[in-house]
Amino acid sequence: MSEPLPTIALKVDVDTFIGTRDGIPNLLRILQQFGIRATFYFSLGPDNSGKAIRRIFRKGFLKKMLRTRAPSMYGLRTMLYGTLLPPPDIGKQLPGVIFSTKQAGHEVGIHCWDHVKWHDYLSRYPKQAIFRELDQASTVFEEIFGYHTRTTAAPGWTVTADSLEIQDSMGLAYCSDARGTCPFFPEMNGRRFTTLQIPSTWPTMDELLGENGITPENINDQYLQLLKTGLNVHTIHAELEGNALSDTFVGLLHLLAERNVRFVTLAEAADEFGADAPSCDLRMGYIEGRAMPVAIQGSTTAM
Ligand SMILES: [Zn+2]
Repeated sequence: MSEPLPTIALKVDVDTFIGTRDGIPNLLRILQQFGIRATFYFSLGPDNSGKAIRRIFRKGFLKKMLRTRAPSMYGLRTMLYGTLLPPPDIGKQLPGVIFSTKQAGHEVGIHCWDHVKWHDYLSRYPKQAIFRELDQASTVFEEIFGYHTRTTAAPGWTVTADSLEIQDSMGLAYCSDARGTCPFFPEMNGRRFTTLQIPSTWPTMDELLGENGITPENINDQYLQLLKTGLNVHTIHAELEGNALSDTFVGLLHLLAERNVRFVTLAEAADEFGADAPSCDLRMGYIEGRAMPVAIQGSTTAM
């Protein structure tokens, strides 16, 4: 019997106004060229990226900013939105670009309302405030696509037991909030949740670049080493793979095509790999290359 082909689900996080406006059309061209369908997660409210500058004062963030040259990658305007420049309203100003992903045959879901707010303050949010973030995003999503979202993916892989509980109440098919190895049902702070999680299994480009001699020229070798049979989930960003790192991303897709990798959407991955998913611990913790903690899939819990 021949070995099953490796399968990849591409998860596209769209964090900013510029990433939506410029990165999405670029990514759509690239994905069409390779005949790949991906899953796009949108930020649908204000772009307050400039406020993320306050993270400069937190451990590790300045080093990361310098390493990834964030200003040149994200653009100066993005660094000022929400501070010196008023925050643009992504869902209101760019509904056509957002809808074009669905028209091109991709799966769509909710990343957030306000990316910076969720990422920086979620742990301090009362349940009502978390609900409001997801509710506002859901309203705009429905205005654009005409139906209730089937999936969400938390900004910066940041979750709390309360955010998971609210997601459980939204009637979602699955979420993609964590870093891990295989689909699972999360258990956090002694609470068990019912929405399937499809975790990202690969590190992002910005986590790998600049560490251990990894450059845009050799980063794709790292990804080929990570490729395993079964499901691989790779998170890319409209701001990076759709912009400054698009040539590197195209190179990766060529290498994966040579290896007969099969691409699926996350919804297809949930159908195919989600049956009999185990219950696993989920906790916030640090991973290499990322300044802020992320939700990490832990060991299987007793059923
Ligand atoms: Zn994001």
